[in-house]
Amino acid sequence: MSRARVRLISCLPLLFGAVVWVSAANANVLRLKTAVSSSSTSFSDEESGSAFSDAQSWLGPGGTLTEDAIHHLIEIIREDAQGAALVAQSIQKARETAHEPFWKVISVCPVGMSPNILGQTNRGERLTIFEGRDLEESTQNLLADGTTNTAHADAFYQSRIEQDRADDGISPDAPEQVKYFRDLVLIKLMTHYPGICLRANLSVDDAVSTLYHEMVHYIASDWSLWPKIGQYSGESDYELQQILRQGDEVDAYLSQWSYEIRKKGKSVLSPLLQPYFDDAGEFIPRDAQGADNRDAIAKLILGGKIFLGGEGYHGLRFVAEYANELRNEQNSQSILLNVLQQVATIDQKNLPYYQQTSSKLYEADQQSIARLPGEENSCKQRLDHINALIAQNVIP
Ligand SMILES: [Zn+2]
Repeated sequence: MSRARVRLISCLPLLFGAVVWVSAANANVLRLKTAVSSSSTSFSDEESGSAFSDAQSWLGPGGTLTEDAIHHLIEIIREDAQGAALVAQSIQKARETAHEPFWKVISVCPVGMSPNILGQTNRGERLTIFEGRDLEESTQNLLADGTTNTAHADAFYQSRIEQDRADDGISPDAPEQVKYFRDLVLIKLMTHYPGICLRANLSVDDAVSTLYHEMVHYIASDWSLWPKIGQYSGESDYELQQILRQGDEVDAYLSQWSYEIRKKGKSVLSPLLQPYFDDAGEFIPRDAQGADNRDAIAKLILGGKIFLGGEGYHGLRFVAEYANELRNEQNSQSILLNVLQQVATIDQKNLPYYQQTSSKLYEADQQSIARLPGEENSCKQRLDHINALIAQNVIP
């Protein structure tokens, strides 16, 4: 899942740094098939996965994805005023992230995906680089209070960051975020922009609902944000907080169900879901006792009762996602610890050189060496915490 590369530049005393690449985990948000009330049988055919011919598929005869096939779905969604607004936001998002028309960020889901999953939104992928700060710049850009003169530091690192991008074939216009710590530079680079996939064998009707749902995920997707996995007490805490986040499953399903009610009436929904909507498809935010109905919806989505197949997002998404996020964090904290140790070693080696050349650089180097054990320690503590969460999460 992840790839780590350490590049250590230490041949010249003035040019040193540890560069580490950590590939972030894929983060997918899904759409499952919703179970429907017994009065409707329209969904049961596709569940078997066999009653479908290409001609009925949203892809049309031949089964290949075309601009026309996507536009057909989009035109149907645009007949609804809220749907038209969602399409407009998605077009905008594709323009900003991929610099492409929206239809180009839509693909056909890979064969072999669970048959219960109708579509997915990939929130984007990124690389994170930790680089040891160069003392030559840090004496100029590190301010007395320990913060950084960002404009100076950006100018200093620009060519190195550009070189790192080129080395890994990352497009020059892919966005990046740079954050300066006293002894480290953290660089986040977007490597894949967000995108949507729809299953090949969906009817036009199902593809429309699925695309509607995925667009809610899509417009909220942000390559630079990732859950801080160490702050959750365990898997159940993680899944409940994630699913309620803006643009996650609660938002996507509420929007999708509301749209389906506007088109076809409330009977289209499972009887378990009907009490949460009025006849116009408006979500009812609180129950008679004042409790938040979003929490109730979250539990229904995590459980399996409202889905055909009986498996909800707990089993289909979050068990694996939580374990992956923990492993990813364990990996990046281990690498960070390694970088801090390397920076300390290189600084030690550089001391005699700086002592001869510049007392200012020598002082900066000494201060860095004094700080690094503290930084290493807090990194070790984070790693211990993650390891404890991993030990807790072992499934018998
Ligand atoms: Zn979803």
